[in-house]
Amino acid sequence: MRSKELCPICGGTLEETEVKEDIWIGEKLLVIENVHAKVCEKCGEKIVSYDEMRMIEGVIKEFERGKMELKKITAYVVSI
Ligand SMILES: [Zn+2]
Repeated sequence: MRSKELCPICGGTLEETEVKEDIWIGEKLLVIENVHAKVCEKCGEKIVSYDEMRMIEGVIKEFERGKMELKKITAYVVSI
């Protein structure tokens, strides 16, 4: 068990939650849902774990190849 982590910005309590990541790639908006993150109760600072960052990078790579093979996550593209 790890001790409770504190926000690096303000020292507030971090709560584990799921967030939605919006990533602009060129003129397209890639939305990845159910990203595990820790969000500060006080200032709202969002911290995404290394594993989640790798997962997001993987989705972006698949998107750039024009082939998204999604398994455990929800992601979609918003065209403008
Ligand atoms: Zn904070």
